[in-house]
Amino acid sequence: MHAVGIVAAAGSGLRLGADQPKALVPLAGRPLVGWAVEALRAGGVADLIVAVPPAERAQFAAVLPRDVRLVDGGATRTASVRAALAVAGDAADAVLVHDAARPLTPPEVVARVLAALAAGAPAVVPVLPVVDTTVVVGEDGVITDTVPRQGLRRVQTPQGFDRATLTAAYAELADGAELTDDAAVVRACGVPVSTVPGDERSGKVTVAHDLLLAELQVRK
Ligand code: C5P
Repeated sequence: MHAVGIVAAAGSGLRLGADQPKALVPLAGRPLVGWAVEALRAGGVADLIVAVPPAERAQFAAVLPRDVRLVDGGATRTASVRAALAVAGDAADAVLVHDAARPLTPPEVVARVLAALAAGAPAVVPVLPVVDTTVVVGEDGVITDTVPRQGLRRVQTPQGFDRATLTAAYAELADGAELTDDAAVVRACGVPVSTVPGDERSGKVTVAHDLLLAELQVRK
């Protein structure tokens, strides 16, 4: 099975308070996007495309291995993945889409996603249970409902797809559509999405505290 990896790295660093794209923010001296690329490679995905902010393309090229293909990302994550998928080519059987903001995904997670695809799943995502009590809060800040957490899961990346299935789903998706992940894109076409266990170490760096935790994780 030939899998191509797409790393979505075209976001800003706004919530992190960074003055550069989040994917270029260093973790233990190496930009987040470098870690994310390495995580996919360590898990067995060698052929990689990274969606970058067009204005900072040169900076990404300077910090990434030469054999990684770069494409200009879009205004939303959905647009960025769509742009990367357009250059993936027909040769790949499978696509793994990963967030640059998840630098420390263990290779076992990537391997679990690849194994599920090889076993015939058209789409697969790594998930974790929800451990906190989860509630619905009204505009006045008062709880209106408690959500039974037994069936809830937190969804991570890399998310794996049969390439033709993902390409067809993106072709069906309206131009300006904005979904928070790629599983939602194929589900909109009725494709069943399987799950495999995710990993707490594969957390997303969103705010400054997440970066601090990642630094501790690398240092251990
Ligand atoms: O903002 P958030 O952390 O949810 O973004 C998830 C991933 O999507 C990040 O790795 C970010 O770089 C990427 N992204 C993108 N293009 C955008 C916005 C976000 O590739 N326009």
